[in-house]
Amino acid sequence: MRSLVRLWRRSIQARVVTNTIVLSALVISLTGWALLRDVAGGLADNRRTAAISEARSGFNSAQQQIDAAVETEPAAQSQTLTQIVDSLTSSRGAQRTYELVLEGPLAAGSNQVPVRSSAAIAAGSLPDDLVDQVELKGGTYWRYSTLGLLGSSDREPGVVVGSQLHVPSTGEDYALYYLFSMSEQQSTLNLVRQALLLGGFAMVLMVGGVAWLVSRQVLNPVRLARGIAERYASGSLEQRMHVSGKDDIARLSTSLNQMAASLQSQIRRLENLSRLQQRFVSDVSHELRTPLTTVRMASDVLHDNRKSFDAQTARAAELLQNELGRFEDLLSDLLDLSRFDAGAAQLDLDTIDLAEIARRAVDDPLLKRRGMKVVLINADQPAVVEADIRRIDRIVRNLLTNAAKYGGSDRVEIEVRQSESCVSFAVRDFGVGLSGDENLRVFDRFWRADPARTQGGTGLGLPISKEDAELHGGTLRAWGKSGEGSEFILTIPKPGGSANPPAIVSVFT
Ligand code: ADP
Repeated sequence: MRSLVRLWRRSIQARVVTNTIVLSALVISLTGWALLRDVAGGLADNRRTAAISEARSGFNSAQQQIDAAVETEPAAQSQTLTQIVDSLTSSRGAQRTYELVLEGPLAAGSNQVPVRSSAAIAAGSLPDDLVDQVELKGGTYWRYSTLGLLGSSDREPGVVVGSQLHVPSTGEDYALYYLFSMSEQQSTLNLVRQALLLGGFAMVLMVGGVAWLVSRQVLNPVRLARGIAERYASGSLEQRMHVSGKDDIARLSTSLNQMAASLQSQIRRLENLSRLQQRFVSDVSHELRTPLTTVRMASDVLHDNRKSFDAQTARAAELLQNELGRFEDLLSDLLDLSRFDAGAAQLDLDTIDLAEIARRAVDDPLLKRRGMKVVLINADQPAVVEADIRRIDRIVRNLLTNAAKYGGSDRVEIEVRQSESCVSFAVRDFGVGLSGDENLRVFDRFWRADPARTQGGTGLGLPISKEDAELHGGTLRAWGKSGEGSEFILTIPKPGGSANPPAIVSVFT
């Protein structure tokens, strides 16, 4: 049942075919029903008209025979009437299509009237209202009825025509009924019904088949387009749709092909540009290294001898030394990033315990210098992963330094937790926090909350840490609330595990 519902939801073709079958079945049933009603009406009308005219001539000839007979003796009279019934029934020989019933003499207010009939007609074959009409009023009347023989349960449709006969010699009245069978019409109708049913069924199947074929013709190129669009989405833009003819599908294919070609050229252009930029940054950084080493050496000499300079020159030597330090840090960050961009960053894996790293963080000199309290949570259980100790240390140092530099709180929490598939390491402070989308922007290169700030780094620390985490197949994510604090959670997968979901849920979510 569920797979049927899924098929209905996912497949336009299934919906088109089902809807077509249901609607055509409805239309065909309605048409068939109207047709059958007309045929049945026509057959019954014809039979009734023929029956009435045949019965009328029978009534006339019976009345003539009665008028011609002059007996007044009841026995002789009864014989004459029996003869009339016999002669009427035998008038069509073996091919007789009716039965006769003669009732009478009719006595007012009595139900017990003698009956003669050409066969043992079952009770109920003569409709009561017709009998009343014929017996009370003169004239010829008819009714549809179901006819049956005594002792048989089979009944068939028929039409009954009745009229009064008057015996002038005795003044008595008789009622004569013709019972015409309509079984022939019934079987014709059955045949027509069967033919309509079979024809209708075949028609519905054919219409369903046609709908399937037509929808397939329309949907096949759409499916092809979907397949190719999926491949575009997964990055392979070389695929093209086959274009044949000039119809709408061909135009759609052409547009898709043009879109893919334009996307491909744009992406190539951007890739080239990005590669050029990366190469530029990398080349500049490398080129700067040698002169920087020389400048550093010269600066070291000046710095070492600053006491022999006058105050202003000594201050300049100190400034030069400090700024050179920042310059070197920036250059080393840029070189690291260009290694990530070039895909040249390598992991030097070792078995390391993140809980141990958390315990060591308590002695971080910067945190101590700033008089910050470090609270360890769950750091007494070993939390072992395969990782590059140098890179993990760099991430942790960066997170702790940031908490000290930017957090503005006097307390840092470090929490370590592990799940079946990963180990998470959270650094939490309760200072200025992060607002809006800053938890995403902190990972942008060169982004700083306060661009005018001269203190602090270059805005490359967190992007590098994120690249380091991702190099391990892990994640580094940030949460925060303005004025409440911020939290950075590093998650490293265990061998064969995944960093999603992290083992720690941020307190700032
Ligand atoms: P940098 O290398 O200059 O220290 P980062 O990439 O480490 O830069 O951080 C980028 C910016 O993110 C910082 O300039 C600071 O504005 C913000 N930031 C980082 N850590 C925190 C924190 N714990 N609390 C508030 N802001 C922070």
